[in-house]
Amino acid sequence: MAKKTVKDIDLKDKKVLVRVDFNVPLKDGVIGDDTRIKAALPTIQYVIDQGGKAILFSHLGRVKTEEDKAGKSLAPVAKRLGELLGKDVTFVPETRGKELEDAINNMKDGDVLVFENTRFEDVDGKKESKNDPELGKYWASLGDVFVNDAFGTAHRAHASNVGIASTGIPTVAGFLMEKEIKFIGEAVEDPKRPMIAILGGAKVSDKIGVIENLIPKADKILIGGGMTYTFYKAKGMEIGNSLVEEDKVDLAKSLIEKAGDKLVLPVDSITAAEFSNDVPTEEHAGDVPVGQMGLDIGPETIALFAQTLAGAKTVVWNGPMGVFEMSNFARGTIGVCEAIANLEGATTIIGGGDSAAAAEQLGFADKFTHISTGGGASLELLEGKELPGLATINDK
Ligand code: ADP
Ligand code: MG
Repeated sequence: MAKKTVKDIDLKDKKVLVRVDFNVPLKDGVIGDDTRIKAALPTIQYVIDQGGKAILFSHLGRVKTEEDKAGKSLAPVAKRLGELLGKDVTFVPETRGKELEDAINNMKDGDVLVFENTRFEDVDGKKESKNDPELGKYWASLGDVFVNDAFGTAHRAHASNVGIASTGIPTVAGFLMEKEIKFIGEAVEDPKRPMIAILGGAKVSDKIGVIENLIPKADKILIGGGMTYTFYKAKGMEIGNSLVEEDKVDLAKSLIEKAGDKLVLPVDSITAAEFSNDVPTEEHAGDVPVGQMGLDIGPETIALFAQTLAGAKTVVWNGPMGVFEMSNFARGTIGVCEAIANLEGATTIIGGGDSAAAAEQLGFADKFTHISTGGGASLELLEGKELPGLATINDK
């Protein structure tokens, strides 16, 4: 990566502003999943070990009104962070002002402070989300250097990432940001070959950018999930009541033409009369009969995908192969996970919120080289877009 990281700057005695991604699921003050807090630990620990003062901040959920603030405080996150680090973490329930400034000025080397949800600034004119320059300038004034470790927000230009960096304060990537860019960036721009992309999920419209960007870069693109049927329709096949985006049929046609034999479509489907786990399922090669909807790839497709994946050196997976949330339609996603798990010496990457959840739920999470922590950001990286949060990190 051609970006500076925490390893490239001196942190000793410095007030180190660290934009982390602490956007965890919170219910009644209880953290449902602390994966994101854990993912930020290497950078935080490094800042402390180097003798820096770690000033941490993040958004949490959406905050538009004063009422939205209820249950969106970072206080429980700061508490959990203290437990994980095994040391005191100061929490300041403000996003600006004297209390925050005093607390920062009282910090000693190696101390950790978390300040309040950056989106609390959105109540008054969306200052955080619209990247109000005064807010970015103010936050930058609180520290000496800026570490951006919030990959999950890198596709957004907010005051707490782009705003701060744009003031000219020395800006580097944290370890999580570095890891995400390394894996996803290399898989797309400079992959070990063969490189195979597996794209699924509900809609073609969500994945058009990814398909278009990957057609020239991947050796094969395997299509599954609900978007299959928009492609089927483009080929003039019967799709029954399967999910389809009528306004994307022409586009699907042109993607089929552009990709040629790189694009591999499912050859069979598991179908049902209703979107339900409680009705009988059927198996159909090719066309989905009238009255049925395709909800998973079938066994022939699993075999075809496994055969195509054999020997792959890079696999990028985005989007489940079926409605994996229902056991009757999880087999396709399990099959693809198994095929990926069997690969030797391959770099295997999941970029996509639901795909990561699927791998987790189906018990395959540890079989992948890298599971991205940022759904939207990884999707945009796969689309070949420049991420503003990344672009504002200093080059090496
Ligand atoms: P990701 O978050 O990994 O990018 P998406 O959000 O694009 O994935 O898609 C995930 C959703 O797609 C899942 O909730 C899954 O149930 C749904 N899905 C997969 N296959 C089908 C299908 N054949 N019909 C309808 N929905 C599907
Ligand atoms: Mg999703």
